[in-house]
Amino acid sequence: MYPIYTSVIIPCYNEQQVIEESYLRLTKVMQANFQRYELIFINDGSKDNTLPILSGLAKKDANLKILSFSRNFGHQPAVSAGLAQCSGELAIIIDADLQDPPELIPAMVALQIKEACNVVYAVRQSRQGETVFKKITAKLFYRTINYLSEVPLPLDTGDFRLIDRKVIDAFNRLPERNKYIRGLITWVGFKQVPISYERSERFAGETKYSLGKMLRFARTSLLYFSNKPLRIASSLGVVAVLIGLILTLWVFYVKIFKPNELVHGWSSILIIVIFFGGVQMLTIGILGEYLSSIFNEIKGRPEFIIDDVVNLTPDSSTKLD
Ligand code: UDP
Ligand code: MG
Repeated sequence: MYPIYTSVIIPCYNEQQVIEESYLRLTKVMQANFQRYELIFINDGSKDNTLPILSGLAKKDANLKILSFSRNFGHQPAVSAGLAQCSGELAIIIDADLQDPPELIPAMVALQIKEACNVVYAVRQSRQGETVFKKITAKLFYRTINYLSEVPLPLDTGDFRLIDRKVIDAFNRLPERNKYIRGLITWVGFKQVPISYERSERFAGETKYSLGKMLRFARTSLLYFSNKPLRIASSLGVVAVLIGLILTLWVFYVKIFKPNELVHGWSSILIIVIFFGGVQMLTIGILGEYLSSIFNEIKGRPEFIIDDVVNLTPDSSTKLD
């Protein structure tokens, strides 16, 4: 039995099929291992019965707390809201669909105490019940972002992790609005230790990460964690100028020494126009991506809007001001 006050943060979007089971399994683990704990469920604008089910459970259990958003803001804002509101000395971020086993939590805490570390992040050994497409894109994504990022990010790691109060406070002070949470937690530093686990199948229901959401997620992580695309754009410019220079010299050479050979087909011109046009569009596109991120940040809108809270008093320090 650990005397440490522990918060569990569970983002949920349309999880009516799993939410009760998730609550029961978490409660079993937490009651058996912790003297004091809180389960913070963040209802991310669910359109199904997630909220009524949670509210029903919260009437009988004061350890169950609910933050309910005014609409679907996304998984990352939901985790952010949980971290802003939790009051434990430790916090555990976990998915609602039981892909991350709650039974790993005591092992994470034991490791945190043994290693005297600030973060224990769970690394997926295997992924069950996920499509080949998801597995391939995830593998590719983590390797690309790790290559591009200025901070080395651990591979095959989701948001399932334990973080201590120092890290929670450091995270809550970060002013950016679009947060790539697993990257930022690595970025804040402190002592971080991995623990490996088998990622199980979703308990029920479908993934709530549509292709659009996955792309948006990849985009934020890439733009916020790397300037390399900008550097790649300028390198492309340098290469294009060099090619242009060589071609110009060649044209002069032919003009002066072999004037009869100058008439060439239109295909070479077409290729050059398309190539340089493509390079320009690409670099402008990359610039545009960064510009739109800057625009989103300076608008200064809150990351999320809370509609309702249960068993919690909203903390005035959250980013709702
Ligand atoms: N989720 C959320 N808001 C969203 C999408 C997902 O709060 O807009 C939650 C979801 O309920 C789950 C977690 O984020 O607890 C991970 O989502 P999911 O399991 O669907 O993603 P996958 O495991 O398929 O990547
Ligand atoms: Mg899942």
